[in-house]
Amino acid sequence: MGQAKQRGSREQRIAQAQERIEATRPEKLVCNGCGADVTTIHPVSTRGLAGIEAIWVGQCDCGQTTFAASGEPSAVQAFFDALGSDTELTLGSQRQDGSGHETA
Ligand SMILES: [Zn+2]
Repeated sequence: MGQAKQRGSREQRIAQAQERIEATRPEKLVCNGCGADVTTIHPVSTRGLAGIEAIWVGQCDCGQTTFAASGEPSAVQAFFDALGSDTELTLGSQRQDGSGHETA
């Protein structure tokens, strides 16, 4: 009942959210390792990261992974503090259970 009214709104909201994220896409990142421009940039899920609007990750030719984040300054700072101690973090895989299935 009443579902027809909502039809499409969920998809619209997702599309709008993606547009908002795309709007924050940096033109390029500067590699933390060698200072080169990194133009291949991918969005990363910000689920569970309160105050973070968008996270972008770029992989430099030198192997260094560079991040950019936008959102509340304190949340962004906390994000980069976390990065500083664990560069790989779990952003890419989003492992939830921590079962430790090694894929190395
Ligand atoms: Zn580099």
